Amino acid sequence: MTGSFFSIEWGYCVEKKGESLPLVEQVHGNEILQLDKPRPLKDSAAVVPQADGVIAQYSKAQVHVYTADCLPILFFTEEPDGPIAAIHAGWKGVRKGIVQKAYQELSGFKNLHVLIGPAIGSCCFAVREDFIHEWEEANLSPHNFLTRKNNRDYFNLLSYVTQEALAALPQSQIHLDWFRCTVCSHPSLPSFRRNKSANPRIRTWIRKTT
Ligand SMILES: [Zn+2]
Repeated sequence: MTGSFFSIEWGYCVEKKGESLPLVEQVHGNEILQLDKPRPLKDSAAVVPQADGVIAQYSKAQVHVYTADCLPILFFTEEPDGPIAAIHAGWKGVRKGIVQKAYQELSGFKNLHVLIGPAIGSCCFAVREDFIHEWEEANLSPHNFLTRKNNRDYFNLLSYVTQEALAALPQSQIHLDWFRCTVCSHPSLPSFRRNKSANPRIRTWIRKTT
C-alpha cells in the first residue's frame, strides 16, 4: 500500500526481520528521536537509540517503524521544508503519551497531517482488568473506549488515538482509510496476537522525494 501528497510518499509492506535497518530500537516508550540529517547506516545494533518514533527534517528524509498489532502513525506537514515522522504506538506507548508528544513537537508547523495504519482492532483487542487499572493509575480514562461482549472487555485503540488527533488537528487532516485490523487480516497482514511472533512484521514508512 502506498500514497502521496506533493513531495511526500508513504506506504507499508510486510517484512521479515533484517530486510531493512531499524532507525531506533522500539521499546514501547515515549521517546522520539529527532534527526536533522540521515543517520549513518553503518551503525551497529548496539548504537541504535531506544525510541518509538523518529522525526526527520532534511532533504529526501525517510523514516519508518515496525509493528505487528501496534499502531503505525505517520506525520507530515504541507510546508515544503517541513518534517516527517513515524511513530510506533502500542497501548503502552499511547498510555505514556507518545502520540501527544509527537503533536507537541510538530505543533509549530503549518497544516500537519496524520495517517494511521493497520493495527489490532477493537474486534480482537480483548483486555484484562490490569490493563484498565494501568490506565486509571496514569489518570487516563479508558472506559469510553471499552466494549463488553461475552464477558470480556475490548479496547478501541484507534478511537483513543483518533480522539487525541482531533484535539490537535482538524478532521480533514486525519487520515484513517488505511486502518484495518491486523488480527482479522489473515493472511495478508501479520499479527503478534494471532501469530505469537513479531516476525514477519509491518514496516510503515514515509519519505520526502525532494
Ligand atoms: Zn479483528
